[in-house]
Amino acid sequence: MKLPNLEKAKIRNEKEVEYIDATIKKDVSLFRGKKYFLKTYGCQMNVHDSELIKNLLEGIGFLESDKMEGSDIVVLNTCAIRENAHDKVFGFLGRAKHEKSINPNLIICICGCMAQEPSVCEEILSCHKLPNLLMNKINKTDIEVESIEGNVVENLEYIRDSKISAWVNIMYGCDKFCTYCIVPYTRGKQRSRKSEKILEEVEKLKRENYKEITLLGQNVNAYGKDLEGELSFAELLEKVSDIGIERVRFVTSHPWDFTDELIDVIASKPNVMPYIHLPLQSGSSRILKLMGRRYTKEEYIKLYDKIKKKIPAASISTDIIVGFPGESEEDFRETLEVVDYCKYDSAFTFIFSPRVGTPAERLKDGTTLKEKEERLKRLNELVNKYSLLANQKYEGKIEDVLIIGPSEKGADLVCGYTETMKLVNVLGATSRVGEIVKVKITEAKSFSLNGEAIL
Ligand code: SF4
Repeated sequence: MKLPNLEKAKIRNEKEVEYIDATIKKDVSLFRGKKYFLKTYGCQMNVHDSELIKNLLEGIGFLESDKMEGSDIVVLNTCAIRENAHDKVFGFLGRAKHEKSINPNLIICICGCMAQEPSVCEEILSCHKLPNLLMNKINKTDIEVESIEGNVVENLEYIRDSKISAWVNIMYGCDKFCTYCIVPYTRGKQRSRKSEKILEEVEKLKRENYKEITLLGQNVNAYGKDLEGELSFAELLEKVSDIGIERVRFVTSHPWDFTDELIDVIASKPNVMPYIHLPLQSGSSRILKLMGRRYTKEEYIKLYDKIKKKIPAASISTDIIVGFPGESEEDFRETLEVVDYCKYDSAFTFIFSPRVGTPAERLKDGTTLKEKEERLKRLNELVNKYSLLANQKYEGKIEDVLIIGPSEKGADLVCGYTETMKLVNVLGATSRVGEIVKVKITEAKSFSLNGEAIL
């Protein structure tokens, strides 16, 4: 069994990135009548990768099942970033193991970030080679680990979950090596797709009548830095915007790569949505340095001010880690200060959990879990206060809402998103899924808005 190696994975060599054409011969007769069950954990990148896996499996005859029981293959697309995702994957594997004891022919495939971690790696198949590997392994018990590090695979086809909003990968991997993060090891070095291929994909989505696309990358605004003569992210965004899809978004950006040019493109292009996810991680420059984030508290605030000055309507969300090793009460108070200053529209907050093999795992940590939990509680109270205040500003306003489907809040409601990425439960628009509808906001809650469609 060939396992991935984190030591090797961190080496960034000069070897040219290979651009591979993944045109795959489809033959639905190969596994006709067989069923697959796919479970996805983690970020949008994983959700989008699962759209690819579906296409690969259905291209060779598999049909999707909504349960593991009775399936021929179980595919787990995993996430290694957060501890709870780890726990969920192991919980799921327990169920899969039980199912395999009933059905010994069941194939269990694990892909995604966790599958690249030696500490958790057991039975793994890589994504784009899945059909071939399946062909070779279907009746064997071999375990094979494949890494796509170093490559960019083009001409991939997806079975997209939505006919309204689509994800478009523009780059893979990350070279930032924030000290707590496993992604540069599991996803490999930064590899940007060629802009012409991205633009072709966006043009196709426009022809297919998609209303919204989101450009995806672990460090999306570092796009092009690894390719000589390639467009910058701001230039790419401008060209994507010119194709004319109603809504263009991107995620996730790093403050260090957020250029003035990029701010100008967002400010000047009406179809580039005024919603920016700007991960802070900590408000203490000392902790930011330990995290390897490449910006100080002051630089972050300067960037925030610049964005707000040029795009006053922008909503800004963030990620914050509480209890990074060595974080003192004073450091934590600085984080609260930045939250008080930026008054984020929303924030994803987490207690630090060490990822095996990262530098932060080796840092001394004198803070108890109880203290960290108490800090998280204080932070969440503040974050929720500002989320509600930000949402309350929408009350009485008329917003353009892209209706994406039924709402969980009631049979007569649908839900959708404002340009600024606020979730709205809408009355009076059940027949208008896929449209951008004018909605009067009637009530603000901490995490959503209620509104009525204006006919
Ligand atoms: S920029 Fe993001 S993906 Fe890259 S190392 Fe830092 S946290 Fe991880």
